[in-house]
Amino acid sequence: MSLIFYPDKCTACGLCLDACPFGVLSLEHEKLIIGQGCTLCGTCVEVCPLAALELPKEEAPSTRPQIPPDGIWVFAEQHRGKLIPVTQQLIGEARRLADALQVKVAAVLLGHQVAALATTLLAAGADKVYLAEHPALAHFCEEPFSLALTELAQRFRPEIILAGATYVGRAFIPQVAAHLKTGLTADCTAFDLDPEKRLLLQTRPAFGGNIMATIITPFTFPQMATARPGVFKIRPPVHNPTGEIIPVALTSLNDPPHSRFLAIVEEIKERLPLAEAEVIVAGGRGLKEAKNFRLLEELADLLGGAVGASRAAVDAGWIPYAHQIGQTGQTVSPKLYFAIGISGAAQHLVGMQSSDFIVAINKDPAAPIFQIANLSLVGDALEILPALIQEIKKTKLSNRL
Ligand SMILES: Cc1cc2nc3c(=O)[nH]c(=O)nc-3n(C[C@H](O)[C@H](O)[C@H](O)COP(=O)(O)OP(=O)(O)OC[C@H]3O[C@@H](n4cnc5c(N)ncnc54)[C@H](O)[C@@H]3O)c2cc1C
Repeated sequence: MSLIFYPDKCTACGLCLDACPFGVLSLEHEKLIIGQGCTLCGTCVEVCPLAALELPKEEAPSTRPQIPPDGIWVFAEQHRGKLIPVTQQLIGEARRLADALQVKVAAVLLGHQVAALATTLLAAGADKVYLAEHPALAHFCEEPFSLALTELAQRFRPEIILAGATYVGRAFIPQVAAHLKTGLTADCTAFDLDPEKRLLLQTRPAFGGNIMATIITPFTFPQMATARPGVFKIRPPVHNPTGEIIPVALTSLNDPPHSRFLAIVEEIKERLPLAEAEVIVAGGRGLKEAKNFRLLEELADLLGGAVGASRAAVDAGWIPYAHQIGQTGQTVSPKLYFAIGISGAAQHLVGMQSSDFIVAINKDPAAPIFQIANLSLVGDALEILPALIQEIKKTKLSNRL
């Protein structure tokens, strides 16, 4: 396919030449020449005031292929034999979607000597578990994982595949989508269905978080999406689950790989990661300056929790971005969330509003955060925090005596 050029509309103004990021356009005797190396990026089309250039139209299939038979799959992510919570969160969400579509939920467990995890996946709500074990899957590497999931998807043909938007999911799920020649929506924060057309509605922040876009994949299967950890709640486990565990042999891993596992270099973590914390103590602009985040750290340490922050605090340089909670930060749903000196802007709420119990401390009684708080403390955080820390220390001490 190549760029379409309408010479009768062109005035040889040269705007497209300046705009082309690859320098493949030139003018010869006022005639536009499209050289080798055009990537159809469309920049020239956008700048041309006379619509003398056009991108070729991709042939979209006029009808949707037949619905694949194998329901909704969840990639069961495990690290060294331990499932990570987004797996159970996604199985719960897949269960909701599958019940509406009247299909089954399958968890796909890839690894080496990980069979013991299959029952936990059934208890989380899966109807069946595809268990693919192979020494090449002992440690995460993109190539064997993408080959394995692709092979299984081609063999059993799921309608939808969901995975966590973790570093693992982000690394290899796009390769699977490319192998399967289908679309992928990364980093979703919500799912819904158009049950009549059997379309997965995949919602995620777009354009720098300024809008929430709902994306569909109407012409290809499977419909694929990754979702942010912490967005969906884990369902209570099913006791004595009766689902099926289906061991599958893989042929795609027989060839020697192009990459190989060398070693895991542990990141030194001083604190609990936000996504795993049951208690989060988050601070905002109301804390006034970086040094006051020490109070949050002290409270978090006493409660065995992690420290979070609003974007205002991160932008002020008081705490690194990794701690930001909200639309352009992390999504969390701890058991207990402290919002201290945080006003409660919509972009912050979207990242923490599913917390089980929210304590807000703010000196403005009209702060929007109080509308979702379970416990509202109106006052100066810099007075309330030291007093709260003292009280907790006293209680801990008297409990120890
Ligand atoms: C595209 C986009 C994406 C965004 N993404 C995010 C995101 O991911 N996360 C995020 O948090 N924000 C995000 N924001 C920014 C968001 O709109 C708010 O600006 C931000 O959340 C405000 O942070 P804050 O509540 O700390 O500050 P402010 O809104 O300034 O609130 C400070 C609060 O502290 C209170 N206060 C002041 N002094 C004290 C005191 N001594 N004691 C107690 N309370 C006090 C004030 O009453 C006020 O309510 C985004 C914005 C945009 C446009």
